Amino acid sequence: MRTVTGRSDHVVVVGAGLAGLSTAIHLAGRGRAVTVVERESLPGGRMGRLDVGGYRIDTGPTVLTMPELIDEVFAAVGERTRDHVDLIPVDPAYHAIFADGRTLDVHSDEDRMVRSITEFSGNDQAMGYRKMRAWLTRLYAAEFDRFIAANFDSPLSMSIPALAALTALGGFRRWDGKVGEFITDPDLRRVFTFQSLYAGVAPDRALAAYAVIAYMDTMAGVYFPRGGMHAVPDAFATVAEAAGVRFHYGATVTELERAGGRVLAVHTDRGERIACDAVVLTTERHRAYQLLTHRSRRPVAVRAAPSAVVLHVACERDARIPHHSLLFGAAWHAAFVDIIEKGRVMSDPSLLVTRPTAGDADLAPAGRDLLYILVPVPNLEQGEIDWERAGTDYAGEILELARRRLGGARLRDADLLSVVTPADWAKQDMLAGSPFALAHTFAQTGPFRPANMIRGIDNAVLAGGSTVPGVGIPPVLISGRLAADRITGHRQARRATFAVGSTADRISK
Ligand SMILES: Cc1cc2nc3c(=O)[nH]c(=O)nc-3n(C[C@H](O)[C@H](O)[C@H](O)COP(=O)(O)OP(=O)(O)OC[C@H]3O[C@@H](n4cnc5c(N)ncnc54)[C@H](O)[C@@H]3O)c2cc1C
Repeated sequence: MRTVTGRSDHVVVVGAGLAGLSTAIHLAGRGRAVTVVERESLPGGRMGRLDVGGYRIDTGPTVLTMPELIDEVFAAVGERTRDHVDLIPVDPAYHAIFADGRTLDVHSDEDRMVRSITEFSGNDQAMGYRKMRAWLTRLYAAEFDRFIAANFDSPLSMSIPALAALTALGGFRRWDGKVGEFITDPDLRRVFTFQSLYAGVAPDRALAAYAVIAYMDTMAGVYFPRGGMHAVPDAFATVAEAAGVRFHYGATVTELERAGGRVLAVHTDRGERIACDAVVLTTERHRAYQLLTHRSRRPVAVRAAPSAVVLHVACERDARIPHHSLLFGAAWHAAFVDIIEKGRVMSDPSLLVTRPTAGDADLAPAGRDLLYILVPVPNLEQGEIDWERAGTDYAGEILELARRRLGGARLRDADLLSVVTPADWAKQDMLAGSPFALAHTFAQTGPFRPANMIRGIDNAVLAGGSTVPGVGIPPVLISGRLAADRITGHRQARRATFAVGSTADRISK
């Protein structure tokens, strides 16, 4: 494995999002002096927080999976998750509502999910689900250590037996087709394939290898941190500081001072010069290259994932609304064509509605709920929508749609607290106005994804959603560990593939 050359005693990490925090904690645990430089006034990055009129809004992710990876970060400095964050299991993980009014609770527990499916679409589908679950478990085991949580120096460094195992499992076939071998009910199939949108590819185009996201999402458990998602980066920053990591908040890195292929120091807009032995950049990829004054040698331009419009809504408390609701439109294939190929909003949108106050009522004033509505939309390269002009009207339509799909009486006294569109993501420097960085196409996957080390630069490493292994809380936490490995040269002893079911150890009592 390629590593940085020369000394690596003092490392500067640019960005205090999850990737930066994970990197900093892993490095501190391995005895490195670490300084984190963050342009905002608080940690979290995309997993941010916004306080509006007594509502504590999570601005980014709402679905937290694979808490074992959070454990791994805390463990890097000898800490335990349960001493810092109270992770509450979300059950059902999702409540799916289909266009014809049918509903399905998605449980992580196999037997409960089998009962749910039997009621929804009969015994055959439930049996198919059991088989699909066994396949997803094998797929996850085949991929995690060898493809997801691994540093590659080139496509040639992939293990042939690992590739053969993935091929035998159908990992290079199409996700929708593979799930269709087990489940024929088209509505039910959506529950195990809609996650391909996170990868930025339609289910009938995405590689079946990505079905591991369905494993994480529907089998491995969904959690919610008490105090909101932001409790996780807050806790990471606290343990990092206790482990000696220094934070410079409110400082934007404007320049990297170089001597040939070595970065000598990081300069900020506050006039600071912070000398370093190595640097880890967790900014968007284009910004990392700009800071490194380096041109990408990729023969084809990278492709950004689709974007999203997010609505933050306050309403009268309604305990009937579950934590996560998937509101599916009747259109399915056409919805992906709309946003990915045609560059227009979905004619019949599917939405994710999250009610964080189901997990922690203190996130809103008494008697009120906080809702988060996410609708996928084209990114600014795929579409030509003028979001500054169209954003408010579109938000109004989506709110009305959510109200209808959740049942007419719901969302009483709804008040739109904030709307975030691709134009807003672009203002935060995100490629093509997409908060989901680079799409997970085949050409941007595993060893083909932009790597975390750059040829010609000796002591800079990349981490975060733009590099390996990819986008989302679990991948970016892993990317922090992979970046630390590139610096220290070996990874700490750790369990092999994470096992599901260790939640009892984690949850505080
Ligand atoms: C709306 C939304 C919904 C999502 N939903 C989910 C979900 O449900 N589940 C899931 O797993 N994932 C989800 N994600 C994805 C997940 O949140 C991200 O992949 C992850 O948080 C990215 O972390 P990061 O550290 O790579 O990047 P960031 O969080 O963007 O961190 C980069 C940091 O670098 C800082 N920075 C940038 N440039 C500079 C500079 N020049 N100087 C100093 N600092 C700088 C930024 O301020 C930022 O804090 C969602 C994301 C969004 C936005």
